[in-house]
Amino acid sequence: MEGLGRLPDRSSICFAYPHKTRPVSVTGPSCELNCAHCGGHYLQHMQPLAAAVAADDSPSWLVSGGCRADGSVPVGEHLAQLAAVKSGRRYNMHVGLVGEAEIEQLAAVADCVSFDFVSDDPTIREVFGNGRQAADYIACYQSLRRRVRVMPHICAGLKGGQISGEYRALEILQALGAEALTFIIFMPTRGTRFGDRKPPDITEVARLLTHARLNFPAIPLHLGCMRPGGRYREEIDKWAVRIGFDTVVNPAPAAVALANKLGLTISRGEECCVL
Ligand code: SF4
Repeated sequence: MEGLGRLPDRSSICFAYPHKTRPVSVTGPSCELNCAHCGGHYLQHMQPLAAAVAADDSPSWLVSGGCRADGSVPVGEHLAQLAAVKSGRRYNMHVGLVGEAEIEQLAAVADCVSFDFVSDDPTIREVFGNGRQAADYIACYQSLRRRVRVMPHICAGLKGGQISGEYRALEILQALGAEALTFIIFMPTRGTRFGDRKPPDITEVARLLTHARLNFPAIPLHLGCMRPGGRYREEIDKWAVRIGFDTVVNPAPAAVALANKLGLTISRGEECCVL
């Protein structure tokens, strides 16, 4: 793989198993947007906010939810409730394209915002169909960054398995600044508009991750939880170890074995990789 010889030297890696972070949805299982890659499927595995408030003692929550038609997650109307039950608990909030007023309020509650950074208009049209443009994502990222810790998430192959705007997203983030980056990888999900697509080519994703490591040598790079399983995960996780990623979430055992073989110092996380 081109560029591997120039990678910064890494001597440690964190393997995160985020079982202590509870996924909570402020909209329960519903979503107005019905995106091509998700179709609301992943909300089904999250706990509705009311149930989490009643019965949970997790040290952290991933607070997310379905999107409104404009691409925002309606977190604003739940912030008072989230603040009331916070007491030391840390929140990683997934808020979508929120407006200025909501950003102001959520900054008082969120420990971190995970922000899906997309900078390719055709991808936005095809996947989200939310009437928004790359400029909206860039503006929202900048507004969030002024008030709260933001972790951009880049989904490799979001456009139905094709690498399209990902390199451009990295270029923009290099100019805007980022304190860490989390990569996730498109996986076809049954029952969605992209259910019959294929995950992006592994070599192409490894090239993208290498490019990110070379161009962001000093910030943490995480391989996040959403990515295909099986052989694909085994291969890409081993690549992430070789490339020098700082964190791999729920790693394939072969990647842990490789890190041991390479003599890396291994730490273990139990919460969301960005917290
Ligand atoms: S990628 Fe990391 S921050 Fe995002 S949900 Fe998964 S573990 Fe949490």
